[in-house]
Amino acid sequence: MTGFTIETLDDGRGGHVHFVHTDHVNWVLLQDDSGVTLIDGGYPKQADVVESSLDQIDASASDVRAALVTHAHVDHIGGLRAVAERYGFPVYADPVEVGHVRRDYLQQAGPMDLAPLLYRPRVARWLLEVGTMGVLDRAGIDATQPFPSDGGLDLPGRPRPIACPGHTSGHSAYLVAGGHVLVSGDALITGHGISAVHGPQCLHKAFHHDVATNRASVQALAALDVDVIFPGHGPAFHGPIAEAVAQALA
Ligand SMILES: [Zn+2]
Repeated sequence: MTGFTIETLDDGRGGHVHFVHTDHVNWVLLQDDSGVTLIDGGYPKQADVVESSLDQIDASASDVRAALVTHAHVDHIGGLRAVAERYGFPVYADPVEVGHVRRDYLQQAGPMDLAPLLYRPRVARWLLEVGTMGVLDRAGIDATQPFPSDGGLDLPGRPRPIACPGHTSGHSAYLVAGGHVLVSGDALITGHGISAVHGPQCLHKAFHHDVATNRASVQALAALDVDVIFPGHGPAFHGPIAEAVAQALA
């Protein structure tokens, strides 16, 4: 449960994109001469795993210049919050998502939303597992700021935010590696503890703030010139993004 694997790609400009995959959630490390950009950071109990993943790429949390958030759910900002507080790097999100990351409000499925699904053994098992990882933690990251500029960001790996609302109102994906890799967050995933499907898919509707808006966002991703997807949940997808989008929306 605390383990992880890392898949590393050249970013085409002398740096690397590292996809950190764990059983329950993923994050991404963009590494170049100027340091590391962290995209998301796991469940609250995974802060140490985030640090271990930095060790694994011969970096440390003190090399992190900034973190980017895809969206403000506990499985993406819980561990990040602890690491950011420890090391003091800035945390950025889509301007629409900033208030969510700060916990001015919460757009996250709670126990009552999931109760109708609990008869499914897969859902009950998943809840038991994530229950030990701080899934009920509701703390935000107060210091979160909107992206410092429009377009590509002047941060390690030169990530470019792609507004991708629906899962949450300000959900953002990120184009990296010169635009051929998409960090898709939870807009488009490839596997999840409560899903029997392996491969590109949308999360169960109970987890989305606005299902129709998410579908429209995913449809728009098909036009990108992307051939690798690093999702928030599930393994990496290698292939034309239009195929992944068609599967996810089928
Ligand atoms: Zn998630």
